[in-house]
Amino acid sequence: MALGVTGTLVLHRFDWFEAVYDFTRPYERLQIDNLLIIVLFVAIGATFISIRRSLDMRREYEQRLKAEGRMKTLALTDALTGVANRRHLYDALKRRLETNPAEASCFAVCIFDLDRFKPINDVHGHLVGDQLLQQIAERAQAQLRSGDLLARLGGDEFALIVRTGAVDEDISGLAERLIASLSEPFRIDQLVCHVGASMGIAFALGGASQTPDTLLQKADLALYRAKTEGRGTFRVYQDAMDAKARERTLIELELRDAVENGEILPYFQPLICLRDGRIEGYEILARWIHPSFGLVAPDRFIAVAEEAGLIGDISLSLLEQACEQARDWPKGTYLSLNISPVQLRDSQLSTKICDILDRIGFSATCLEIEITENALVHDVDVARRTLISLKARGMTLALDDFGTGYSSLQHLRSLPFDKLKIDQSFVMSMSESAESRKLVKAIIAMSHSLGLKTTAEGIETHAHALRLTQMGCETGQGYLFGKPSPQARQAWVAEAIGAA
Ligand SMILES: [Mg+2]
Repeated sequence: MALGVTGTLVLHRFDWFEAVYDFTRPYERLQIDNLLIIVLFVAIGATFISIRRSLDMRREYEQRLKAEGRMKTLALTDALTGVANRRHLYDALKRRLETNPAEASCFAVCIFDLDRFKPINDVHGHLVGDQLLQQIAERAQAQLRSGDLLARLGGDEFALIVRTGAVDEDISGLAERLIASLSEPFRIDQLVCHVGASMGIAFALGGASQTPDTLLQKADLALYRAKTEGRGTFRVYQDAMDAKARERTLIELELRDAVENGEILPYFQPLICLRDGRIEGYEILARWIHPSFGLVAPDRFIAVAEEAGLIGDISLSLLEQACEQARDWPKGTYLSLNISPVQLRDSQLSTKICDILDRIGFSATCLEIEITENALVHDVDVARRTLISLKARGMTLALDDFGTGYSSLQHLRSLPFDKLKIDQSFVMSMSESAESRKLVKAIIAMSHSLGLKTTAEGIETHAHALRLTQMGCETGQGYLFGKPSPQARQAWVAEAIGAA
């Protein structure tokens, strides 16, 4: 347009029309004037189009820049909570570690996750779970200082990068404030949810060996420690945690092969009728015979097996081996099998057990199932269903380690138990503690009034055996009668009872 106007003015000023007329007159026959006008209009049109095109391109470029910015933000943000995501956290950690050493050693990484989040998600649905996570992020964000970064790692797991000043006091204060704030109830519509949080902390100490991965790993180990030591608390990473974690990983790796190679064997500890000293049955206890290290104690591998999802296979393999050995035992001798809380969630458990019993020809009525009180804490309805189906197959049910867990008396009334096993800590302290004696007597009386039998664990002296018999306890178990052994040594046990 501007070119057109300028062209008109120029033509007017220098009288170009006349000049063009003079120039074209000799060639009038060729109509050059018309051609020139066409050329002029084409030039004007081309100019107009190129200006329009360059304006469009500029607009497209600006839109592309905006979209790229938006995508970059999305790529670094957690879509649900709006806080940073794992990638953002990782980049931020990398940047901080790559700055000068002084800068790299004045921050810490904290990882926290929620206690009791899964039941809320399971019971009230993911929509409520998502709203809860959004509120968690808001509360956590409110505790941070400028320069700190909150990120969601996934699920109910979050991480923080926090500046450290006077080191421990600063971080401890922040961790305590954050955990306390997340322990307050959350309100989602009409629902009030109670969760808590556990936290692991790792300090960036500078040095070339530190990477975002090693820092996050250390914070994770500290979190694991916080969770195993009671939840609702925090732990700061120490090197010893790493050594323990390595051992745990090694055990898990070797345990998988051990199950397949038949290295986990049943040991038998006798259960004695206190009235006549007769062997009623044997508790099956797991022992790992490692090809290099020899006997591995169960407290070193049972918890790992539970976490690694191997406990079901181990338990069924022990049952199978024990039933094979029990074929030649006197009729009516029963086996007592420990079932982990994890196994109670398996709706096929009673079928799997019965398949083994049927295959070997061992009667279900000669199998006792031991469940610890803590198995009933997580989901009592699921546990009830499994217990009822085991009972329906003819097995008897015993509540193990009674008195040390969290079961309520309501469980004793509402679940189909046949027996209580009094925890060894009460029995072993009977000599020196009058309270323990009263407690044991009260447990036996309560069991009888509920129609349950009792087994006392941890009997080590004749005096205890006698006392428990007088209190009316039916069955005894402990070193007095026999340690767990790879074979059921009945003759040896009979001797011990004879001596009693
Ligand atoms: Mg037991």
